[in-house]
Amino acid sequence: MRAAVDEDRCRGHGVCLTICPEVFDLTDDGYAEAIVPQVPPELEDAVLKAVRSCPERAISAD
Ligand code: SF4
Repeated sequence: MRAAVDEDRCRGHGVCLTICPEVFDLTDDGYAEAIVPQVPPELEDAVLKAVRSCPERAISAD
């Protein structure tokens, strides 16, 4: 699985970081980014939860 954050939609709420800090981090500009190119299998459930929980629907994972 790969995860990505649409920087045009992200508003920097940080919900994704709270759910899965191993995959998401905030940039210096205050927006989220996926910091691993490939999501490890054991973190896929957390990433999918972040996708569902993002208030801006800014995260994609496939
Ligand atoms: S939860 Fe969504 S809007 Fe908030 S920081 Fe993460 S990607 Fe951005």
